[in-house]
Amino acid sequence: MPQYIIDAHTHIFPRKIAAKAASSIGEFYSLDMQFDGMTHELLEEGDRCGVALFLVCSVATKAEQVSSINDFVASKVNLHPDRLIGLGALHPEMEDPYAEIERIIALGLRGIKLHSDFQCFDINDERMMPVYRRLAERGLPVLFHTGDARYDYSRPEKLARVARAVPELTCIGAHFGGYQRWEEAAQTLCLPNVYVDCSSSLFALGREEALALIDRFGPDKIFFGTDFPMWDCAAELDRLYALRLPQETLDKIFWQNFCRLFSVPVSRLEDYYRAHPQPR
Ligand SMILES: [Zn+2]
Repeated sequence: MPQYIIDAHTHIFPRKIAAKAASSIGEFYSLDMQFDGMTHELLEEGDRCGVALFLVCSVATKAEQVSSINDFVASKVNLHPDRLIGLGALHPEMEDPYAEIERIIALGLRGIKLHSDFQCFDINDERMMPVYRRLAERGLPVLFHTGDARYDYSRPEKLARVARAVPELTCIGAHFGGYQRWEEAAQTLCLPNVYVDCSSSLFALGREEALALIDRFGPDKIFFGTDFPMWDCAAELDRLYALRLPQETLDKIFWQNFCRLFSVPVSRLEDYYRAHPQPR
């Protein structure tokens, strides 16, 4: 049986801005981007590495971009409904986030992605609290970029405040709850409504550190993610396999937790792997 894999953290960009968007993100993090972030690259990479399904998103750095980004992500999901699950964008400065939330739902998007370092707001900004409450009511989980030692906007501790204040909101803290702030994440984010993904972290963590984080959050609360176009999927898979986790834990991280949270039927994965027999 193939290893079922879902990539729960990827970014896609429209063709005309992909190369520029990817390189400016690379500069922001001083990391080399492996791809430009076009959808066909993502799907080809998935076929090469045996990834059946992707959670895709795109961040709005300006309020005016929100609706066109949501239209773009939804159009890609509609083109590849068997491979993509989309998140919508919001921005703290937009006029009517509540109307956009309804539009996001109507477009078939399944949650929200926020990147408070790019969007320059504190995760626990007072303006966002009613928005988080509405997202909880409407059943939309939020994938938060978290951590980065250079910025305070996205501190894990700030996400913890939100998760405690809105316990019905499902929060996903990217990068093990806080890139470069893993200790703070482990101290503050072990909460019932908080999940984490392991994207853009394993390159920087030693095996013992990574195992300690997995143990601390618990295997039921972690998703696999590559942060495409940042990383080469095969290399990220190798980094996770190098931890030598039990198969049961791998299955949870790779797909079971995701299927549970996003109500994805296993048959969707079975269909993919039947059509794409895996090399490994
Ligand atoms: Zn991201």
